Amino acid sequence: MAETDLDFGALRDDMVQQQLVTRDITDRRVLDAMRSVPRHLFVSKGMRRMAYWDGPLSIGERQTISQPYIVALMTQLLRLAGHEMVLEVGCGSGYQAAVLACLAEQVITIERHPTLASKARELLKQLGHTNVTVLVGDGSAGVPDEAPFDAIMITAATPTTVPPPLKEQVKDGGRIVAPVGGMGSQVLEVLERRGTDWRTVRSIPVMFVPLIGKHGWEEKEYGYW
Ligand code: SAM
Repeated sequence: MAETDLDFGALRDDMVQQQLVTRDITDRRVLDAMRSVPRHLFVSKGMRRMAYWDGPLSIGERQTISQPYIVALMTQLLRLAGHEMVLEVGCGSGYQAAVLACLAEQVITIERHPTLASKARELLKQLGHTNVTVLVGDGSAGVPDEAPFDAIMITAATPTTVPPPLKEQVKDGGRIVAPVGGMGSQVLEVLERRGTDWRTVRSIPVMFVPLIGKHGWEEKEYGYW
């Protein structure tokens, strides 16, 4: 079947039903956002037919767009109500930022690869997500000029702990969702700020590309991948 004959809307509805509803995604707003964002536009033309499969896909620069279920789960764990200022570290294709944009007031997303950032910026603009700002830089240090944030999502693997500058940029009562652990595999953690204390809840094991930067991994450590 030619790509132009594919019904991406139907594929997206099936993805939500089969990969999210049958697992543990119960937040109506998250399900609606996942139903509305055209994931196939965030991957290269040759990969569009695979955009709604139950796994990650390559987006160039040795980076990936995460599995739909992981995008939905991380979003659900942030528990957004609609009024929040959110920081995403690891813009990649811009897909996760588009989902967040449906659920929060303002989204800042930062990406270290300028080529990925500019593609994402252009597409988010075309799709009318006027509440998203795409920045280029090392997000392991956060975005202090725009802080504090109600919520931060890190979509790259942090070594052993969430970088302290990111924790400092979260409001009291705010949340961070991040894959924390080794370079090969991590655990999704939800950190909730209570004044100077943090409550941490561990979710599921995951496998993310590394967060590379001053407060992440060194680029040369990523070499053997
Ligand atoms: N959220 C993305 C999406 O929806 O396509 C997928 C993120 S991908 C799994 C991880 C991204 O984090 C990559 O694009 C990578 O270049 C980026 N990254 C890694 N270290 C970073 C850093 N220090 N600052 C900003 N981006 C970083």
